[in-house]
Amino acid sequence: MPKKKNGHFSDFLKRKSLRVTGERLRLFEGVSRQRGHFNVDGLVRRLHEQGLRVSRDMVYRNLPVLLEAGVIEQSFKTNRDTFYEAAARKKHHDHLYCRTCNRVVEFSDPVIEELQKKIAERFDFKVEFHCHQLVGVCKKCRK
Ligand SMILES: [Zn+2]
Ligand SMILES: [Zn+2]
Repeated sequence: MPKKKNGHFSDFLKRKSLRVTGERLRLFEGVSRQRGHFNVDGLVRRLHEQGLRVSRDMVYRNLPVLLEAGVIEQSFKTNRDTFYEAAARKKHHDHLYCRTCNRVVEFSDPVIEELQKKIAERFDFKVEFHCHQLVGVCKKCRK
């Protein structure tokens, strides 16, 4: 996913005939700065702590926009929640999720990436993003 600066985000909004508002730009900047994984409630909490005035509703409404613009990526899901991360902060990677202790391990494997491209080609499918996740129980929790 290419790095997106504020200008790119405005262009994206215009292309999609979405209004370029100060609130949206603030949200974009705030989200781009975040490290690690977050769910929406966690994101709103962090943004508030960082002095950003955005409502929870506004963040929920703009989630599809942030995803489509490539500002955030969907990282992994738990039974209750979906977690995201800022796309520009890190190279693309996938996740192992331990459902016992909620530990998340990041990994990246060129073979898996390449295989996904081949599958998409086979189905003539234009991939916008993928979220590859292995769910299970980690070594510590199996002891
Ligand atoms: Zn575990
Ligand atoms: Zn991650």
